[in-house]
Amino acid sequence: MKTEFILSAASAINHAIIAHESEIESLDRAIGDGDHYINMKRGCATVLSMHDELAALAPEAALQRIGLKLLSTIGGASGPLLASFFIAMSKTAGEKGAETLPQIAAAFAAGVEAIRMRGKADIGEKTMLDVLIPVARTFEELTAQGVELGSLLAAIKLHAEQGMLATRDIIATKGRAAFLAERAIGHIDPGAKSCQIMIDAVCDLVAG
Ligand code: ADP
Ligand code: MG
Repeated sequence: MKTEFILSAASAINHAIIAHESEIESLDRAIGDGDHYINMKRGCATVLSMHDELAALAPEAALQRIGLKLLSTIGGASGPLLASFFIAMSKTAGEKGAETLPQIAAAFAAGVEAIRMRGKADIGEKTMLDVLIPVARTFEELTAQGVELGSLLAAIKLHAEQGMLATRDIIATKGRAAFLAERAIGHIDPGAKSCQIMIDAVCDLVAG
C-alpha cells in the first residue's frame, strides 16, 4: 500500500459519502441525533485538506497522522472510534509491513479490533462493527487463501452489504440507538451504512 493509494481512497470515500448524504442523514435522524452525515463529511474534508502534508509521508505515518487529526475533528461517538482505527492500522502496518494483501488485511483487522476495544462493542450490537468485523474476517481469510483480486473484492462487498442490512432487524445495545430499544428495529444503523459505503468505494477504486 502506497501513500498515493491512501490519498486516492480518501478522495473516493469523500465522493461516496457526499453521494449518500440524504440516506446517511435520515438513518441517524431515525435512530440517533442526525449528525452522522455531518460528522463523516467533516472527517472527509479534513483528510482531503491534509493532502500535501500526507503526500510527503510514508503510508504508516500518513495513517497515523489521519487518525490523530480525526480524533480532534470528527465529533460524536464515531470520531474517536474511526480515529482509533487509523492509529491501530498505522501501528500494525509499521510493525509488520503493508506491502502484500495479507499484510494489508492484518493492518485493517488491527484497526477494526481497536474500534471493538474502544467502543466496548461486538458484532450483533447494531453498530459499524456489524460491517467491519465480517469484512476484516473475510479480508484476512481470503487473502491467506490467495484468492484472486476480483473474487476478494466481490466477497468483501457482499459481506459489508449483508452486515449493514443485518443491523435493520436487531436492537442496539451500544450508542444512542440503544435508548430506543425495540423502536430501533426496522432501521439500518447509520455507522454501519457509512462504513459499507466507504468499503464499497475503496473496493471499486481497487477494481479500477
Ligand atoms: P453520535 O452517536 O455520538 O451522534 P455519530 O452519529 O457520528 O455519533 O455515530 C453514530 C454511529 O457510531 C452509530 O451508528 C454506530 O455505528 C457507531 N457507534 C456508536 N457507539 C458505538 C460503539 N460503542 N462501538 C462501535 N460503534 C459505535
Ligand atoms: Mg449521531
